[in-house]
Amino acid sequence: MAELRKDYILDRYVIIATERSLRPHQFKRQEESKKVDVCYFCPGKEDLTPPETGRVQIETKGMKGWCIRYFPNKYPAVMQEGNSIIKTDNEFFTYADAVGMHEVIVETPEHEKELADLSVQHIARVLEVYKERIEMLSKLPDIKYVAVFKNSGREAGTSLVHSHSQIIAYNLIPPIITEKEQACRKSNSCPYCKMLNIEKNSYRRCYENEHFLSFTPYASRFPMEVWMLPKRHVLSIAELSGPEMTALAEMLKRILLKLKDLNAPYNYYLQYGLEKMHFHIEILPRLSTLAGFEFSTGTIINTLTPEEAAGFYRNEKVG
Ligand SMILES: [Zn+2]
Ligand SMILES: [Zn+2]
Repeated sequence: MAELRKDYILDRYVIIATERSLRPHQFKRQEESKKVDVCYFCPGKEDLTPPETGRVQIETKGMKGWCIRYFPNKYPAVMQEGNSIIKTDNEFFTYADAVGMHEVIVETPEHEKELADLSVQHIARVLEVYKERIEMLSKLPDIKYVAVFKNSGREAGTSLVHSHSQIIAYNLIPPIITEKEQACRKSNSCPYCKMLNIEKNSYRRCYENEHFLSFTPYASRFPMEVWMLPKRHVLSIAELSGPEMTALAEMLKRILLKLKDLNAPYNYYLQYGLEKMHFHIEILPRLSTLAGFEFSTGTIINTLTPEEAAGFYRNEKVG
């Protein structure tokens, strides 16, 4: 039986259609090759990237080097100049210059490593860089939102295989954030805090540690989609304490290691609030494709139930 499900708060539907369903392990992909002629993100090639914005240094066995580097994207989607004010002409034509900063964060000097392979401490440092860049970039005059995301694997949109994240700070509050903010404003208590309470005892619960809970959302759009929420009501990663950042890094690593078992391409992104919305991270494994029905209706067909996906994360044997 197929089931139509609505997102917790958004006016967004999915169809969970398990007739053609594969078991989670049947989604496994071929491992992608990391071989390239020249990698711009590898140590020794620093002068092939735009000038560095910052780095995290390490010193091991007397050897000095960087463990994380960040710099402007060579092919930015937004520019640091122009008129950021959004205008409408003749009813239909709304526009502005796309003003902002597009940055790349190289997460490790080691070409062969994935984010999942790094230590919890190292992943926490990457998260600290997210925090620092959001704080810096949101202060810039034309910036309305700072989007932090990671694309891993070709089907998730990566062109460079060396593990990295991206930041686009730009002159628009994304409509998805506005919709979530509105839903939170309408509710008399935080809907995400309510979700935490319900999902921590549901079949969709994946992992829990002292500060974070992860679960596969009720109306998951993609097989193995998973969300991570801090248990404390915070609006942004900037409000997380040191121990909370470590707990987040630990949980992210666990989830990414499970996805690595499947060689799953994935996107993840931070969703932070402006006034009310509870900060969270959404991870979307890209093991299915959007096609005609999805584009014509906005309704996504997902062939794996989030309940079964959560069992995969919890390492439950399935028959
Ligand atoms: Zn490399
Ligand atoms: Zn909350």
